[in-house]
Amino acid sequence: NLSQKLDKALKMLKGQGSITEINVAATIKEIRRALLDADVNFKVAKEITDEIKEQAIGSKILIAVSPREMFIKIVYDKLTELMGGQKQDINIKGDPAVVMIAGLNGAGKTTFSGKLANFLKSQGRQVLLAACDVYRPAAMEQLKVLGGQIGVEVYTEMESKDAVQIAQNAIQYAKANNKKIVIVDTAGRLAIDEVLMKEIAALKKALNPTETLFVVDAMTGQDAVNTALAFNERIDYDGVVLTKLDGDARGGAALSIRKTVNKPIKFISTGEKMEAIDHFYPDRMAQRILGMGDVLSLVERAQRAFDEEEAKRIEAKIRKNQLDFNDFLSQIQQIKRMGNLKDLVSMIPGMGKALKEIDIDDDSFKPIEAMIFSMTKQERAKPEIINSSRKQRIAKGSGTTVQQVNNLLKQFEQMRQLMKKMNQINPAQLQKMKAK
Ligand code: GDP
Ligand code: MG
Repeated sequence: NLSQKLDKALKMLKGQGSITEINVAATIKEIRRALLDADVNFKVAKEITDEIKEQAIGSKILIAVSPREMFIKIVYDKLTELMGGQKQDINIKGDPAVVMIAGLNGAGKTTFSGKLANFLKSQGRQVLLAACDVYRPAAMEQLKVLGGQIGVEVYTEMESKDAVQIAQNAIQYAKANNKKIVIVDTAGRLAIDEVLMKEIAALKKALNPTETLFVVDAMTGQDAVNTALAFNERIDYDGVVLTKLDGDARGGAALSIRKTVNKPIKFISTGEKMEAIDHFYPDRMAQRILGMGDVLSLVERAQRAFDEEEAKRIEAKIRKNQLDFNDFLSQIQQIKRMGNLKDLVSMIPGMGKALKEIDIDDDSFKPIEAMIFSMTKQERAKPEIINSSRKQRIAKGSGTTVQQVNNLLKQFEQMRQLMKKMNQINPAQLQKMKAK
């Protein structure tokens, strides 16, 4: 698997103090082969490794981590970023919102329709399933059975062969019966068949869905990319659902589709049971693609080492009273990383709602970051040179006001003064204070 491949690839780097052009070249080749083994599309694998190479050469090796850890971290971060970074939600605003499900036969559309309905129902939403696979009577029956299992109503017209009409009637029915979301299960196609493609495009046009999801079997590897491209051309969907990830699909499809079609993956399906649905988390998929059990702990260790080195550096600067806006920015970025905590804590029952109010969103740092980014190198290092014309420029560049810039400068100065005072306490006094 990729783990062993990467291990082998990284052997060359082990024990060496820096990532240089020479050792990277051979390693990159191995990583590329490893990605191909994980079912990542050839072109995509090449693009990715080229990017990783550039980044690796540019990065300095921290004393606290081995080049191997460093490299894994670079690869892991890159994969996560390429798959969208954050999880992405579907749009279900509307009265009713219409979610259309499309894809090839056997991809898992009908199963996913049921799962999504169940998922949304458990959030307290009023959902209606619409059976619009008019080609297979069994498909309508299948959806009815699923609806029965999860307690969600299914709209059917067993005699009709007109998918557009059924869907439109279902939407009317939803309006009349206070259903807020209509999930439209459609007919599949065996392959990218022109007649059926025209039909699904017509259905999309007629319904103008709030959200269109393309469902694809992750086990189909390379074909998944071609199908994803073909469907995107015809129906310009909003998101992708990857199914059958409970099998030994290697996850490479997620990366290839994201990179080739440039549409977010929004859900994954991991089994036949109605509960086997989850949001798509790029970092978890990166772990899967890397396929190694210990990679996460390695990455975390590398990250901690990053943070520790950074903390040490800043501590030294505080001691010399040299703290500047560059340090401030790096501190903010560390706090932001802790944003991941939110996901973790929100799994504890009852915590989800409380967290919404605390709001440790990245957004609260945005204006501060924007202001610091608008400062020149010199200004960041020596904030005292920021006069009124510079303030105006910073405010303009960051979309803030001079007032906000003033506040930031004031807060920063106060922090500096505080640190100065702390530095004036001599070590002997400090010892005494500690002894008490
Ligand atoms: P459709 O033709 O696209 O509507 O596909 P179906 O929903 O009927 O699914 C086809 C087959 O795949 C069924 O036997 C499902 O039980 C199965 N299936 C769907 N999703 C998953 C999944 O995530 N994991 C596994 N193992 N099987 C799945
Ligand atoms: Mg079906």
